Amino acid sequence: METKTAAELGKLADLHMHISSSVTPEILWDLAHEQGMKLPNRDYFDFAKSVVIDGNVGYDDYLKMYDILEEIQSTPDSMFRLAEQVPTKLYQQDQIDLVEIRMNPMLRSRKGKIDLDHIIVYTLQGLERASLKFPKLKTGLILSMDRRFSAAVNKKIVEKAIQYKNRGVIGVDLAGPIDPKFSVDDLSGLAKRIHAEGLGLTIHTGEATDADEMWEVVTKLHPDRIGHGIACVHDAHLMEYLSEHQIVLETCPSSNFQTKSVKDMNEMRQNYRTLLDNHVPFTINTDGPILQNTTLPKEYQMLLDNEILTFDEAKKINTRAHAVTFIK
Ligand SMILES: [Zn+2]
Repeated sequence: METKTAAELGKLADLHMHISSSVTPEILWDLAHEQGMKLPNRDYFDFAKSVVIDGNVGYDDYLKMYDILEEIQSTPDSMFRLAEQVPTKLYQQDQIDLVEIRMNPMLRSRKGKIDLDHIIVYTLQGLERASLKFPKLKTGLILSMDRRFSAAVNKKIVEKAIQYKNRGVIGVDLAGPIDPKFSVDDLSGLAKRIHAEGLGLTIHTGEATDADEMWEVVTKLHPDRIGHGIACVHDAHLMEYLSEHQIVLETCPSSNFQTKSVKDMNEMRQNYRTLLDNHVPFTINTDGPILQNTTLPKEYQMLLDNEILTFDEAKKINTRAHAVTFIK
């Protein structure tokens, strides 16, 4: 049994956190009421339950929970407050001194009625204000594209990332539910632009999708990092490719249980040992600590307690997370 705890790992870095799922029910409740929003739950405690995952809900239900969260977060003022409050809590309570926060500005535009620049600028200013309070806290914003969007809409998001790249936007992500119309090829031109502009590129793949899609992503888009990517454990050649090209997986352990991408602790242990045996670089992240009902220290502790990682391995992984950040 490991005797050292996650608390002894020192300051941690979280590279995969959606702001949608990182806000406490108390704050969401206040923001919704300030906007006069009609919520599906009139009772606070029912509402609070509805924004935290209880048990393993599966991938589709999991993504549905994002809709109401994004609706509440669809004003510039809300984003300003959240972007300051989320990193503040992470720094004060969760040992985190580096956090990359991701969000999709288009899903906060209330179908075009809210200006994207306002959403982005207010978010960046909130993050900057958090860093003003805690000079050792590093923050950066990743703009997420979505699998359900047309190439033209995703292009708009990339253009916004480029426009704000010297003001706190550090990279571009692709997220969203599986969509039969989605094609990796549609993003190859955008990926080239993202690389040329010096922005980081990370793609959600190998979570609900399989190793075949991961192959397409790594060979056509050349991402710096991959969101989840756990499906690679079934493909030795792919693991070799990831190791050779140093494409870093942003793994999110509890999230994999909740979306049923990983069924139990034994499978999780096997996955992580396989990644380590094959020298696939990976990091440990939360995905969204409030919705996932976790914290980054808890994620590390779970992996230590279940003898999935040794303390030294956990330490190296956290050092890597600080090294492969898109924050310059
Ligand atoms: Zn994610």
